[in-house]
Amino acid sequence: MSTIAQRLSAVRAKISQAEGRAGRPAGSVKLLAVSKTRPLADLQAAIAAGQTAFGESYVQEAVAKITALAGQGLEWHFIGPIQSNKTALIAGHFAWVHSVDRAKIAQRLSDQRPADLPPLNVCLQLNLSGEASKSGIHPAELPELAALVARLPNLCLRGLMTIPAPEADPAKQRQPFHDLRQLFEKLCQDGYALDTLSMGMTDDLEAAIYEGATIVRIGTAIFGARD
Ligand SMILES: *Cc1c(COP(=O)(O)O)cnc(C)c1O
Repeated sequence: MSTIAQRLSAVRAKISQAEGRAGRPAGSVKLLAVSKTRPLADLQAAIAAGQTAFGESYVQEAVAKITALAGQGLEWHFIGPIQSNKTALIAGHFAWVHSVDRAKIAQRLSDQRPADLPPLNVCLQLNLSGEASKSGIHPAELPELAALVARLPNLCLRGLMTIPAPEADPAKQRQPFHDLRQLFEKLCQDGYALDTLSMGMTDDLEAAIYEGATIVRIGTAIFGARD
């Protein structure tokens, strides 16, 4: 077994344990392998070990990988900051975008989604730690952006995403995930049919699963430390 296959199976085991401890059904958390900056051979090792969903943050690098690995039934998720001159490539090559945080970007993704592809699955990214430098909208902006995205014909609003500020204390890790879950539930009460909470990375996946994550985005634990 390759190192990547071994790490992948350790991550899967950790997810199952966390599901169990949180009293959630087995298989309710989807594993997104975050393969940004990784060479094609690393992705191929993960694919050989059964991984099908990959997350990428840099558009050009991602499109090269998507093209090289076409025809294998893979599902590609864009999770990085979005510049408006990259929306056409994103709309043309990805099944999901987790990092929508502006009306203009949402509009462009919908306008540029090719007609022969199903609607692009979208999560809205929230900034819950209040750092001015981080991407993501403030919770107060959520109702307006959700309403706009829900109206766009070639987007399918699936849920919310957040990247919390790093926090080593597991007890404190849960707060932003709890907050995201509350915002998610409020939108569901308001009539949105959402099913996705994209939250949890290598260092906080258990806290995220405890608070209801449906997709965890894991890079380091699968592929090793990034340079
Ligand atoms: C890089 C990245 C991850 C993966 O982080 P790890 O700590 O390596 O698991 C998850 N989400 C986003 C948005 C990222 O950019």
